[in-house]
Amino acid sequence: MSDIARIVSEIAEEMRQRPDRGDVATYIPQLARVDPNAFGIAVVDAAGNVAAAGDCEVPFSIQSISKVFTLTLALGKVGEGLWTRVGREPSGSPFNSVVQLEYEHGIPRNPFINAGAIAVTDVILSGHQPREALGEILRFMQFLSDDRSIYIDEAVAKSEKATGFRNIALANYMKSFGVLENPVDFTLGVYFHHCAIAMSCRQLAMAGRFLAMHGFNPTTGCPVVPDGRARRINAIMLTCGHYDGSGEFAYRVGLPGKSGVGGGILAVAPGKASIAVWSPGLDATGNSHLGRIALERLTKAMGWSIFGA
Ligand code: GLU
Repeated sequence: MSDIARIVSEIAEEMRQRPDRGDVATYIPQLARVDPNAFGIAVVDAAGNVAAAGDCEVPFSIQSISKVFTLTLALGKVGEGLWTRVGREPSGSPFNSVVQLEYEHGIPRNPFINAGAIAVTDVILSGHQPREALGEILRFMQFLSDDRSIYIDEAVAKSEKATGFRNIALANYMKSFGVLENPVDFTLGVYFHHCAIAMSCRQLAMAGRFLAMHGFNPTTGCPVVPDGRARRINAIMLTCGHYDGSGEFAYRVGLPGKSGVGGGILAVAPGKASIAVWSPGLDATGNSHLGRIALERLTKAMGWSIFGA
């Protein structure tokens, strides 16, 4: 057994036994049904070896982790012009904050808070029907993971649509500033559905490889994005990927990472590995409690922090 495989199994076993599991998100009713004892981890290294343990094959709701991939698509579509629609500074506010938008005239602070991700979705949607835009996002995930079985969990999308009053407010507010081009319902429909993509840790770690490998998809050997763009997406993941827990995540884990309220985290060790963890219980900042602890253990054991071993 390789070092990574052994460490990954040890971490999964340790996390399975821990009593402190955080609280599963309940504001999207369908997410509240998930087993709080689940824990999965998958690591794909630079040579393509996969080390995975626990519930690494169980699909979960990736939620905000999808925002990394919609950001990638939107940058591909409109290039650096995207930054006139959304900023790239940490927010220091909760993921669904309304207050900051008012101060900043409807321009969201970054692409990973909800308002920013809704604005990014609107960019992808322009010129397309919602179904086409959603198809493009799903196919991108399937292509990156090299796995056609990845799907959208319609029950989760419906559940969020029925209760997403805060996101509906954010989108209408941005629309009033002219930040959204498309009908609010269309943009939100695509947003709720891409948040409802279900993936396993293994699939997610595969999808993140291009960010760890200088923009390349190792399966095809072709670039997904230029090297410089992968570096910049990683920079935004490091500074904004965990909402107002981003500083703490950088301090403890030392890797670019993006969390979702489904309890997943995608983390990138540049040049070394793409890592996905999943534990549904969240901490007070809405990030996976054990997911962060597991990543802290892993980066320490492997010496993978971008700030030094
Ligand atoms: N779909 C969720 C929402 O908009 C995403 C939040 C998250 O994963 O952090 O509320």
